[in-house]
Amino acid sequence: MAMYLGLDFGGTKLAAGLADESGRLLAFGRRPTDPATGPAGAIAVLRSLIESFPSSGDGPVAVGISFGGPVDLTRRRTLLSHHGPGWEDFPLADRVEEIWRFPVQLDNDANAAALGECRFGAARGHRHVLYLTVSTGIGAGIVLDGELYRGARGLSGELGHTIVLPDGPPCPCGKRGCLEAMASGPSIARAYQERLGPNAHDVSAEDVFRASATGDTRATETIERAIRFLGIGVANAVNVLDPDVVVIGGGVARAGEALFGPLRKTVQAFSAPSPPGAVPILPAALDDRAGVVGAIALVASRPI
Ligand SMILES: [Zn+2]
Repeated sequence: MAMYLGLDFGGTKLAAGLADESGRLLAFGRRPTDPATGPAGAIAVLRSLIESFPSSGDGPVAVGISFGGPVDLTRRRTLLSHHGPGWEDFPLADRVEEIWRFPVQLDNDANAAALGECRFGAARGHRHVLYLTVSTGIGAGIVLDGELYRGARGLSGELGHTIVLPDGPPCPCGKRGCLEAMASGPSIARAYQERLGPNAHDVSAEDVFRASATGDTRATETIERAIRFLGIGVANAVNVLDPDVVVIGGGVARAGEALFGPLRKTVQAFSAPSPPGAVPILPAALDDRAGVVGAIALVASRPI
């Protein structure tokens, strides 16, 4: 049976898994990494993690890599990491290929997770999939006709940096009013703190959802506003792509129905009329293994 190795370089942690072509994980592990040690440190952690896997008769035939930052797909290099130095123009795919001597495919984490959810997760069986991760930032991956759509320069899926409120709050990308500036985890937390005013204290988006569940109207208003903008962003993408299904992962998606219930209504309200009904919006199924399973999906060839 063909085996595939999936690697997930997350910035502050690294995960690896070995799976068969159906995406079933036969081994999985995760280790923290020190961002200050750069690629050399991460690769050293990776080697020891793989060595800890139980040995089986079948070694991997290919390696997929999910990287938590922008990559140059043509040159198979990472462009930078937001977590630490050393990843600028780094030949990660070639470096891993030198170690394991198997074909390596590299992509960014949103693309890998999109393909993973399409082949092995919540969107299994669908050919046209829009995947969003709503977390520290907002990233997206697009699967069209069963294959990742990467665009002319590998820059597709920047849904997080589409403008949903001109002149809105500043975004880490330097623009204002991006979807990410309105609905990412830190954006939700910041908007809630602004509503609290002088009484503001440190909160996470998870805290805001929790406060809303206990009747805090300022938390509820904050969440409603974030979901409204998220819904606008998703509806706009749905109108362009006409996907079979939208899958949403990332930390904010763990809020469950408190997010998905109102989001479905908003997306339906802002989408073009589309008989016979709304596009399903589903929670991601792969959760914290999305990077590894997505990396495996990059290299595991199987019909959808
Ligand atoms: Zn932006």
